[in-house]
Amino acid sequence: MRFARQKTAPTKRLLLLGLTITLSFSAICGWILWQAGDRDYLHSREAATNLVSSLASEIDRNIELYDLSLQAAVDGMKNPEIKSISPELRQVVLFDRASTAKDMGSIQVLDAGGKVVIDSRTLTPANMGYADQDLFRVHERSADIGLFISRPWVAADGQYLIGFSRRITNKDGSFGGVVAGSMRLSYFHSLFRKLKFGPKDSMTLLSSDGTILMRAPFDIDTVGQSLRKATVFTLFPQSSSGWYETSSILDGVKRLFVYQQIGNHPLLIVDGLSLAGIYADWWREVWLIGSIMLALCAITMALTVFLVNALRRRTAAENRLAQLASTDGLTGLCNRRKFDEVIAIEWRRAQRSASPVSLLMIDADSFKAFNDAHGHQAGDTALTSIAECIANGTQRASDLGARYGGEEFAVLLPGDSIEAAHLIAERIRGSVMSLRAQQHGRADPCPTISVGVACMVPQAGLTPHDLIKSADLALYEAKHAGRNRTVAAPTMAIRPRQRAA
Ligand code: GH3
Ligand code: MG
Ligand code: MG
Repeated sequence: MRFARQKTAPTKRLLLLGLTITLSFSAICGWILWQAGDRDYLHSREAATNLVSSLASEIDRNIELYDLSLQAAVDGMKNPEIKSISPELRQVVLFDRASTAKDMGSIQVLDAGGKVVIDSRTLTPANMGYADQDLFRVHERSADIGLFISRPWVAADGQYLIGFSRRITNKDGSFGGVVAGSMRLSYFHSLFRKLKFGPKDSMTLLSSDGTILMRAPFDIDTVGQSLRKATVFTLFPQSSSGWYETSSILDGVKRLFVYQQIGNHPLLIVDGLSLAGIYADWWREVWLIGSIMLALCAITMALTVFLVNALRRRTAAENRLAQLASTDGLTGLCNRRKFDEVIAIEWRRAQRSASPVSLLMIDADSFKAFNDAHGHQAGDTALTSIAECIANGTQRASDLGARYGGEEFAVLLPGDSIEAAHLIAERIRGSVMSLRAQQHGRADPCPTISVGVACMVPQAGLTPHDLIKSADLALYEAKHAGRNRTVAAPTMAIRPRQRAA
C-alpha cells in the first residue's frame, strides 16, 4: 500500500521565517539602542571635557592676573629707592588694583625673617609673621619655586583661603623675603554655583597633593580633606588631562570623571558625571522601545503560530483528501485511479533503467455464487480479508496493491522478475487459503483466489496496457484450469532479478 507523502515542510519554513523576522528585528533594535547609549556617553564626556577646559582657563586667567601683581611687587622691591620713598607712594608703585578684586586678599611683603613689612591694604601692617608658613619657607629653601600655591587654611574671620607667594631675591642671589597674597575659596564656590549639575554629579577642585579646595555639591567638611588615594592621582601628573570611571571615594556614587590641570599650577579640576544621570534618558528609551518591540515580537510570533496551525490543519486536510481520493473505501487498498497513475510512473521509470515490472491480477473465485449464498455483506467482508492478505503479502515500499474493480485486485511489483512475482502471488494465495482454513466450519468461509502473473521490461511499442492484458490472460488461464491457482504469462524481454521470499 502506498499513501501520499505528508507535507510538513512549509509549516517549519513559516515558523523559521517568523522566528528569523522576530530575532532580526530584536537584534537591529538592540544594536540601535546600544549605539544610542554609546552616543549619550560620548556626548556627556565631550560636554564634561569642554566644561573643565573652560573652568580651568577661567581660573588660570585669574591666577595669572594675580600673579602678575605679585611679580610687579617683587620687581618693585628690587628697586633700591623703594625703601626711601614715602609709604603712600610706595603703595602706588608696588601694588596695582588686582589685590582689591573681589575674593582676593591683600598682597603683603615679608622680609627675610618672615615678618610682614608692607601690606597693600594698609600703611600700617599688623605686627605679624609667616616664618613658619609653607608659602614663606619654600622660597627660603629654594630659589626657583616661581609661584607657590599653598594648602587652604582658615583665616581669623572664618574665611577659607589659599595663599600665593613669590620669592624676593637680592642682587647677590640671597633670599630677600617673599611677596604673598591670598584668594578666598568662596571664589570657586560662586564659580561652581553658576553651573547646572545633575542630582548626583560633582565638581571638585584639588591641589596636586590631593587636598580638596572646593567641591560641589558644597559641603564645608570636605574642604581640606585629602583625596590622595583617588584614581585621578594614578593618571596625574603623567597626563595633565583625561577621564576615567570609578565609584567616588566620598559618596560611593559611580561616576565618569573628567579632569584637567589648571595651567601649569598644582591645581586640578575634576568633573564627575554620575553614570545613572548619563544613561537616565537612554534607559527611558530602552524601556519604551523595548516594550514596544517585545509587544511587536509577541504579536509576530502569535501570528506565526496561528498561521502555522492553520497551515498544518489545511495540510492535514489536504493529505487526508489526497489519501481518500486514492484509497478504496471498502478494502483500504489503493483504488483504480491511483493504480493507473502509479503503473504509468513505474513503467516510465523501468523504461529508463531497463528493469522489469511485474503485475499480479487477482480475482476471487466464484464470487457471484458466494454472494448469492452468503449475502452481499459477507461478500464485502471476504473482499476485505483478501485485501488484507494482499497488503501483508507485499513488502517493498514500491509495491502497490490496488482494488482493480469488483472482486478483482491488481498488485504492481516494480523491479521484480516473473519468478519473484510468482512467489509473491503464491504467498498471497497461500494466506487466503490459510484464512479460509481458519474460518473452516463457519457458514461463510473466505473464497479462494486465482492469480495471473505477468512481467515485462518496458520497450518501444509496449504500454502498461500490454502488461495488464498479459496478466489478465494468465488469470483467465488460471480460471480455466480450475481456479485457486497461480498462472504466469510467458515473459517478454525479461531481465530477472531475484527477490527474497
Ligand atoms: P469467476 O470465478 O469466474 O470469477 O466467477 P465469479 O462469480 O467470481 O465472476 P463474476 O464476474 O460472474 O461475478 C463477480 C461477482 O462479484 C458479481 C458481483 O456481485 C460480485 N461483486 C463485485 N463487486 C462486489 C462488491 O463490492 N461486493 C460484493 N459483495 N460483491 C461484489
Ligand atoms: Mg471477476
Ligand atoms: Mg471472480
